[in-house]
Parts: sequence; structure tokens; C-alpha cells
Amino acid sequence: MSPNSSNSPHSPYPIAIGVAIAIGILVILLEFRGVEAKDSNSFLPPLQVHLLPPTLAQWQVLSKAGDYFSEVKPTAAGYLVWSEFPIKVYLDRPENLQDSSASNRRFQQWTNAVAEAIREWNAYLPLIEVKQPELADIAIERYLPPLGVQIDRETGRIKRFRARSAQTRCEFYIRAGNPPILSHRMTILINPGLSDRSILSAARHELGHALGIWGHSRVETDIMYFSQVRTPPSISPRDINTLKKVYQQPTRLGWALPLNNSSPYKKR
Ligand SMILES: [Zn+2]
Repeated sequence: MSPNSSNSPHSPYPIAIGVAIAIGILVILLEFRGVEAKDSNSFLPPLQVHLLPPTLAQWQVLSKAGDYFSEVKPTAAGYLVWSEFPIKVYLDRPENLQDSSASNRRFQQWTNAVAEAIREWNAYLPLIEVKQPELADIAIERYLPPLGVQIDRETGRIKRFRARSAQTRCEFYIRAGNPPILSHRMTILINPGLSDRSILSAARHELGHALGIWGHSRVETDIMYFSQVRTPPSISPRDINTLKKVYQQPTRLGWALPLNNSSPYKKR
């Protein structure tokens, strides 16, 4: 862990780019605000490969099972790889454990299902729960994702609305320090109204995105299958084969920003 790791993810430099992914839908959001970088690419760290985390280094790739790495697309920052472990996860929990109301019990069931998904992924990448969302790398919130819309290009009108059961959004930020580090933070929204089984399945799937599988499988027995299925699968060998390949790819995340006189990230 680097000496900068205790810094809050809310850096003084605003988000440059955000991307989001949801079950069956790929949404790209581009936000440019705050610091104006005339040639922003020139300030990004070069693409480099991180050391494979021991949990994935130990994973014996079952080549017969195959993978769907070709469906995982790199972002402007490269592959969405974590490089500091354990990865800090915030999970929405009911505040009052003594409250036995039906709504609080439903909240607790939601939390239990998501916690189970965290335990399952923890076998492949070390995760630790943190109590403050602002300290988290991945924040999982009990919140209805915004309604998706499909817009007709020709008429400019809304063709249809699309409800989502869950969504994962990625934000890039500069973690202040010397040197400043290009970092990312994931926010997962999971619909509070889902059944326990669907919450577990959605949490498994969205955590797969948040851990770096930024794409979907075409095989129904993979947790990263693009659509919801009647019998939700567990994390499959193909899911982990894919995850391991992702972590062998180059990324700009977790690397120091090159400092030069014209860089807006230069320490003052
Ligand atoms: Zn998805």
C-alpha cells in the first residue's frame, strides 16, 4: 500500500471522465468540468502492467473453459484494474439494528445478499469493508438506478424507457500526493425492491464490473452474462479466466501522473 492510500478519493481535481455500465446496457457518460486541460492526454500516465495480485496469480486457468476477454473493452484510462489491496468496499447497512419493522428487515436482507456476493468475490481479489463511503474504492448503495432511455436518432424522440435492476458507474480522479496518482472509484446501485436471489445475482454481476470486467459474456452460465436469467449462475471458471486476463493488461490507473511545468496536477 502506498503512503498516499489514506487520502480521500475526493481529490481537489474534479472528475475528468465517468463511465457507467448496467445489465444489458452500456452507457458511456462523458463529463468534462472544472480544470480545463487543453491536451488532457499528455498529462495521463503511460499504459503499464501491474503485478498480478497473488489470488489471481494462483488461479490455474482452465483453458478448456475458455474466457470472454475479447468482450472486455479498455476505457480511456486503459483496463479498469485495481492495484492496491485489499480493495475497500462500502456497503449500505441499516443504521438501527434494533428496528424490527418490515422495511428495516427488507433492508437487512438486501445487505445480507450483497455481503454474500462480496464474500464470493473475495476468494479471487481481496476485499475489505469500510464504514465510510468516502473512503471506499467501491461503494454499493441500496438505490434504484436511473431509468434508461433509448432515443430515436431520426426524430430525436424517446423510443422507449428501460428499467434497470442495477448499475455500476466508474469515475476517474487524481489522488493528490507526491506524485499524484490516476485513480478510479466505482459506485454500484442495486434496486431495493428485488427478491433476495436477484439481489445476490445483481451484486455478483455488478461487482464483476467493479473489479474490472467491463463487458459482458454471451454464455448464460457466466455471472457476467449480459441479461438476467431465470436460474442465476454462480461465478464461473470463465469469469475468473477473464478477470485474470484483465489484470494482465496495461492500464493508466494506479500510476503516477507525469509532472511537467504545464501540468494542472502539479503540486503547488
Ligand atoms: Zn452488466
